[in-house]
Amino acid sequence: MSDQDNAVLHGVAVKTIRRWRRLYQRRGLPRGQAHLGAPCPRCDTAPLDEGAYAELFGWYLGDGHISLGRRGVYNLHIYNDVQYTEDNDHIKELMRRVKPMGRPHTRLVPGCVVTTVSWKHWPCLFPQHGPGRKHERRLGMADWQREVVAAHPGDFLRGLFHSDGARVRNWTTRMVAGEQKRYDYPRWQFVNMSPEILEWCCQALDLVEVAWRRSNHKTISVSRRDAVARLDALIGAKR
Ligand SMILES: [Zn+2]
Repeated sequence: MSDQDNAVLHGVAVKTIRRWRRLYQRRGLPRGQAHLGAPCPRCDTAPLDEGAYAELFGWYLGDGHISLGRRGVYNLHIYNDVQYTEDNDHIKELMRRVKPMGRPHTRLVPGCVVTTVSWKHWPCLFPQHGPGRKHERRLGMADWQREVVAAHPGDFLRGLFHSDGARVRNWTTRMVAGEQKRYDYPRWQFVNMSPEILEWCCQALDLVEVAWRRSNHKTISVSRRDAVARLDALIGAKR
């Protein structure tokens, strides 16, 4: 953070922050990067908040990406539409729950908020990380990830549908007693180019007993009235 922000945070003058930093560096003390070394649920058997993980996994598969930063530290980025401010706050919260001591930050790109948090262990938690785009390579799901998703399918679906899904209003007309009547009905759609991600979405929908169908090679639709209501209750609206 900037010296100015640091000064405000600690209630001291900026020049005091600068003096402290110079003293610190002169003594050759380690930089304050301890948060990057938070223990890993995979390497170090640190506890994992599975509900938060299942949802963050959905977000990652939908619109996430991992990049390698400096000193072997990876950055997890989640992209989401700027209009969904509550979801964007929620993504930060999920990151803090999955990586205790994590300090997610956001930046704006046209139309989108990118929420990012750094950790050496993101590839341990998301072994799907690799070169190239997700739909152009085999992702595979680790056994431990399957168990987490099976235990928290609603959370997983919230991440998937709030990133790559939409709740849309459809309408149709029907003849009733000789009169053309219009009926509106909502439906959820999940659109993704990866056959594996589509399959995982369907499996999770099966687990929570929400009826679905494949509309085309990249789209899953949930349109039966009871199924839409059930999914609404599980994942809530995008907001
Ligand atoms: Zn690890």
